[in-house]
Amino acid sequence: MEKTLVILKPGTIQRGMIGKVISRFEEKGLQLAGMKMVWLTDELLSEHYGHLKEKPFFQQVKDSMRVCPVIVCCWEGVEAIQVVRSMAGTTNSRNAAPGTIRGDYSMSVQENIIHTSDSPETAESELKRFFDEKEIYDYSLKNRSSIYAEDEL
Ligand code: UDP
Ligand code: MG
Repeated sequence: MEKTLVILKPGTIQRGMIGKVISRFEEKGLQLAGMKMVWLTDELLSEHYGHLKEKPFFQQVKDSMRVCPVIVCCWEGVEAIQVVRSMAGTTNSRNAAPGTIRGDYSMSVQENIIHTSDSPETAESELKRFFDEKEIYDYSLKNRSSIYAEDEL
């Protein structure tokens, strides 16, 4: 099973949408393997958004992630990385397809509700960045056989 990182960004917290967003992943059939609230530091965000460091909006994006605490989640499932990524929708929420989380709940490029890992490599390094090993829980939902066929597991 793959594990991937989701961050409920400050916009989700400010707009009272924590439950709604978490429900989307639960209802899909993903399993929550870890979750905590954390006030991110500029230092950690510089690492997390390192691929944007030459962009003029780098500092602004980092500051937007420190308006209030965020909620970091680890979701688990078969091909969870691409499943969660496609549930999020495109970076620019105004272009994000209806039915995606960004497409349904946001109007902005920057204020796009959630972060999701974009590949197996980034999922692994991002989960290490935001979680200690003991904060990721290894268990199996008892209804797994209703979510997947045996040969998919
Ligand atoms: N971002 C922005 N302006 C841009 C591109 C990105 O404000 O032109 C912000 C936005 O919040 C985005 C985050 O920077 O979610 C990380 O950018 P990335 O390209 O990794 O997009 P994502 O993987 O989140 O879709
Ligand atoms: Mg990204």
